[in-house]
Amino acid sequence: MDSQPFKTPLANILVIDDTPENLHLLAAMLTEQGYKVRSVTKGSAGLRGAQAAPPDLILLDINMPEMNGYEVCQHLKESDRTRDIPVIFISAMNDVLDKVKAFSVGGVDFITKPFQVEEVLARVDNHLMIRNLRSSLQEQNARLQQEICERKQAEEKFAKAFRSSPSPIAITTFSEPRFTEVNNSFLRMSGYCLEEIIGYTAAELQLWISSQKYASTIAKLLEIGSLQNYEMEFRTKSGEVRIVLLSAELIDICGIECVLNIINDITERKRLENEFISLVSHELRTPLTSIIGSLDLLSTGLLGTLTTKGQQVLNIALTNTERLNRLVNDILDLERMKSGKITMLPVKCNADHLMIQAAEAMQAMAERAGITLVTEPAMAEIIADPDRILQTLTNLLSNAIKFSEPGKSVWLRAKLQGEHLQIEVQDQGRGIPENKLQTIFERFQQVDVSDSRKKGGTGLGLAICRNIVEQHNGKIWVESILNQGSTFYVTLPLA
Ligand code: ADP
Repeated sequence: MDSQPFKTPLANILVIDDTPENLHLLAAMLTEQGYKVRSVTKGSAGLRGAQAAPPDLILLDINMPEMNGYEVCQHLKESDRTRDIPVIFISAMNDVLDKVKAFSVGGVDFITKPFQVEEVLARVDNHLMIRNLRSSLQEQNARLQQEICERKQAEEKFAKAFRSSPSPIAITTFSEPRFTEVNNSFLRMSGYCLEEIIGYTAAELQLWISSQKYASTIAKLLEIGSLQNYEMEFRTKSGEVRIVLLSAELIDICGIECVLNIINDITERKRLENEFISLVSHELRTPLTSIIGSLDLLSTGLLGTLTTKGQQVLNIALTNTERLNRLVNDILDLERMKSGKITMLPVKCNADHLMIQAAEAMQAMAERAGITLVTEPAMAEIIADPDRILQTLTNLLSNAIKFSEPGKSVWLRAKLQGEHLQIEVQDQGRGIPENKLQTIFERFQQVDVSDSRKKGGTGLGLAICRNIVEQHNGKIWVESILNQGSTFYVTLPLA
């Protein structure tokens, strides 16, 4: 092994020898090699020096008056401060060297006089290297101990938080994903006992109402590293559906990539929210109808002619009341759909007729906005509630027109795809940011908070569309490139 890296120029060597010629010779030899050398001629002085500033190595003569080398070495080994310093004994050729004693008092090696330069340097180098290796091992050991201690503490903290958290938490392996650990809150929420969960996948237990949504959520986790508050529907053992917010983190457990799933059950909060919204909407409907009636009456002029300013104010009141009315109706519509109070009435119908009807209904709006509406229908029969599909298509077309600049085009086209008809609404508008592609299908979710005010929407259109499409066993999603445009896709089963 190359000892060079350990022969630092700062290595400190103490030479204790009562013969001045030896001292000079050794000091000169070692100094030349870059060592820092201190030399003393008496054992007692050597001990004091070693105590005051412990050297890295000691060269110690055995035969000295007053205190011989063995005794000096014994004293060195008695003190904590000097115990670990390697001691190399020096003896004259004709001395009777008691090797056993030299080692038993703690010496690591010996050199005989007259010195051979290479031998002295080789032995000094070796022992310095051993000492350095030992101390770096000790340091490493201490660091490892410290790390173990810190890890234990962190593990204990995590285990405590995991066990006692009121939020349901589950750890799954990333690849499959199988449950490896769940806490008590998770068991309480899911209704399963530990043996019924550990080792199984969420798909096997059918825990997520939309396993596809869970899979795409987890796929996102790979891209971003952590997810926060994704709204999902969770099925308990008894079949009850809970609305939860899922947050997830990638974690490494013993070299296996795992997912830490933290769940926030918001079922009750959602129920209260829905109850509140529908209650308020119901209460608003009657007075709103009366306000609209009164404003309409005013605008006919039957109750007297209004000034131009008065007419303007009345128009503002009418526009806003109509918007409010739309909002209330949309909320109630959505609520009735979700609670199953509105059922779809599916019949065999021609997709091309529906598409042409939808395009005709939106033609006037497109013209006002300076948008060219292009329809490319497909001849296909689907089983659907025509009014609801029309509602979905007009909603998508209205959004496409609303979020495009004049002069652009909007396409409504359809393609046959296996057992499905895929309808596309494509625009060249402002596009939708990546992180909103999913959420805009949630209630009141808009890319820009000012969208509803500026564009007259309610933030409920897409939530209604999704509900309608899902009730037809279809799918709805969007792909988009910012500032280039969006394409909304709807698939519906063919008749
Ligand atoms: P709104 O009544 O606000 O249009 P929607 O639920 O229909 O409500 O749409 C939700 C939001 O999604 C819109 O406010 C808008 O921010 C975004 N969005 C929908 N369609 C498009 C589109 N074609 N281009 C850009 N953004 C869109």
